[in-house]
Parts: sequence; structure tokens; C-alpha cells
Amino acid sequence: MPEREPLQNLSPAEKRKLLAQLLRQRGGTLPLSLPDGAAGFQPPPEFLALKAQMQELERAAGAIYFQEAGGVNADTALVQGRELINYASYNYLGLSGHPVVSQAAKDAIDRYGTSVSASRLVSGERPLHRELEQELARLLGAEACLTFVGGFGTNETVVGRLAGPGDLVLYDSLIHSSIQEGSRLSGAQVRVFPHSSWEALDQLLQTHRRNYQRVLIVIEGVYSMDGDVPDLPRFIEVKKRHRAMLMVDEAHSIGVLGQQGGGIGEHFGVARGDVEVWMGTLSKALAACGGYVAGSRELVEYLRFTTPGFVYSVGMSPPNAAAALAALQQMRAEPERLEQLRARAKLFLDLARQGGLNTGSSRDSAVVPVIVGSSQRAVQLYRSLYDAGILAFPIMHPTVPENTARLRFFLSCTHSEQQIRHTIQVMTNCLREQLPAAA
Ligand code: PMP
Repeated sequence: MPEREPLQNLSPAEKRKLLAQLLRQRGGTLPLSLPDGAAGFQPPPEFLALKAQMQELERAAGAIYFQEAGGVNADTALVQGRELINYASYNYLGLSGHPVVSQAAKDAIDRYGTSVSASRLVSGERPLHRELEQELARLLGAEACLTFVGGFGTNETVVGRLAGPGDLVLYDSLIHSSIQEGSRLSGAQVRVFPHSSWEALDQLLQTHRRNYQRVLIVIEGVYSMDGDVPDLPRFIEVKKRHRAMLMVDEAHSIGVLGQQGGGIGEHFGVARGDVEVWMGTLSKALAACGGYVAGSRELVEYLRFTTPGFVYSVGMSPPNAAAALAALQQMRAEPERLEQLRARAKLFLDLARQGGLNTGSSRDSAVVPVIVGSSQRAVQLYRSLYDAGILAFPIMHPTVPENTARLRFFLSCTHSEQQIRHTIQVMTNCLREQLPAAA
């Protein structure tokens, strides 16, 4: 094969031969950039840097990510044959693994199969979908509701139906990645306001509102890195004054906040119609997999016919829809689960504070961070707890700001007081004796 033959003149077989030759020359590793027109995937340099960072972490602390576990992801987890006290599960109400919920999923499979095998628009609609949506709308005090196969995908596809070129999306600096993606894809102008600052949002709207047609503000019911709750009534007041729409992502607040588990709207007792879009996921307290959007009849009808991630995607699978529906019914039948979740989360937070741990701005929710400073300290604490039989994952820069690396604890109503007291004791001892903060 001639040395400098232009690539486009080569046959596929010759290109493959050239690639193999290049690979051999470079000791068997792929060249960083392939010659023009040659096929093949190259991981981008950012990923290679991330991979090197992860390998370094795992060299220091042992395997962290993608560890296989057995059994239900609940207050305990079975990892490598060891039963650990588990704070890494979204199973807030212990409903994943609840016999009534599991039975409902099995019955749905027997009746409808494992997939609805079509978009709901055509032949995929089943009574379960409607029942689930009615039950969610009832919990949220909304006129109507629409469900999607995934929580992430719900945000990714819905934002673009509410805002587009010529519009403005404003979201909290700690908003979930799915909202960021959805906003980027929407083609709207995006602006970010400092975390939970309705004052900064107000300022931004005063300056920019007049330049846009529609304005969509997006916040969360509970922020999952810090476990804090925004001042929803203030956000409602600001959005009304500036004629904007408000969307609240309740992934971590539905089935957690409110006496009945109705989320942040119930927590603050706001008029339900004051928030245009109540969004949430079914994968956490509601023990299934999927996302929903609830609001006015007009909104839901519009989304039902126009949202690509709904129209061109399959309907929720029967076992998932049935599990979420049964979880909602179970939450109503056993309100003590909500009460216990609140009590356990409060116990964890109170004991952690009494033990001098930095829990940041966590309050009223089932997420408690323990902020330890450097990423290295977070990983060391993760490892020490793991060795002591406790599982909670480290969150590091760039996910959170430098020097605020943390371990994040998700509480469940099934955690016992004893598990919580033991965890705080082990953690405070470990931080004091093995990992004292740098002077
Ligand atoms: N929104 C928020 C705030 C989340 O935390 C998550 C996932 N953790 C999602 C959306 C995506 O939900 P799902 O995992 O159900 O796709």
C-alpha cells in the first residue's frame, strides 16, 4: 500500500489494513486522532482524564462504582456477600420490595405482559396508565397528569415543549442534569440563578423579562446534593409578578414531604394551580421507574399530543405502572411510613449535628450530606465506613464545589433507630480519630 495514498482512494479493506498498521506502530493502543475518513470510536480526552482520576481513587479506596449488589435496595444492601447498613438507596418509603407492590407488578405481567409494545398514542394504552395518572393527579391536587418511561427523559423532552427559541429558561444553579439537558435542547436562552435565591431570580427577571416571550423557571422540591428545600411561596410570588411559568421537579420530595406525601406543594400548603408544571419521578419513593408531569387539563393534553419523548416512545411497562400505582395506594393506606421517614431523617440530622458533623443546609428532607472538605477525605471516610459495614457514597468536585466534598446519606422509613445511632457513632469516631481535619 503506498505511504501517502489519499484516504478516500482506499478501499474499506485497505483502510482497515492501514488502521491495523497504525495500531501496531503505537504499541497496540488506538491513535488519539484517526486519519481523515477512517472509522472507529475514540474516547475524548476529558473522559480519559476522568477515567485516570477514578482509577486513582479506586487504587486508594478499593472499588467504588458499579459494584454489584444482591437483594432489594433498602435499609441494608448485600455487597460482595456482606450485609451493609445502606444509605445509598432512593427507597424512601421501603415500598420497593413491599409484598403488595411486588404482587401488583406480577399480576400486571400476567394480565398485560412485560411491555405494552407500542406508543400509547396507538395501541399501547392500558387501563393501568390512566389509573396511575388519576391517582397522581389526585395526590397533587392537579387537574391531570401524564406519565413517561423515565424521569430523566421526562425533563429532557418536556422542557422543549414549554420553551424554545425566543424564550427564556431560568434554573437554579444546583438543578439536575436532566433539566440542563432539556433546556439546552429546547433552543431557549438559558440563565442560571444562585442556589435557592428567589431574590436573584427576581433581579434577573427585572432586567431580562421584557426581551422574551415565554419564560420558564425550574426549581426542585428537595435538592439532592444538599437535602434542602426552596422557599416555594416566594418563588410563586416572583413568577406571578413577572408573568413566568414555574416547574418544580419533585424527584426527591414526592412521597417524602407533606403529611400525605404530596410533596413540596403540600408541605407549604400552596394553591396547586399556582405552579404550572409539577414534575416528578416514580423511581424513588414510588418504587418503580418512570416520570410524570401534572398540571392543568390544557397542559397535559398539549403534552400528550406533542412531546416527542411521549409520542415516539413506548408507554410505561405494565409492571412499572402497576408498581407505582400500588405504591401510591400503599402510601395512603400506611401513612405511618411517611411519619417514620420524617422521624428517622430528623434523628439522623439531629445526631449528626450534635456530633459536630457538617450537614450543610439539609432540613425537612430525607437527604443528609456530611461535608468533610477534600475529595480525598471523603473517599477515605467512605472506605472506613464501608469497612465498618456502612454504605454511603462520596460526592466530589466537580459535582459539588471544591472543598465541599461529602458523603451523602439517603434515609428510609425502614432504617432503625439503632442503625442510625450506630452510623453516627462510627462516623464521628472515624472523623475524630482516623481522619482529623487539617489544622
Ligand atoms: N430529577 C431529579 C432532581 C433527580 O434527582 C433525578 C434522578 N436522581 C431525575 C430527575 C431523573 O429521574 P430517574 O432516575 O427516575 O430517571
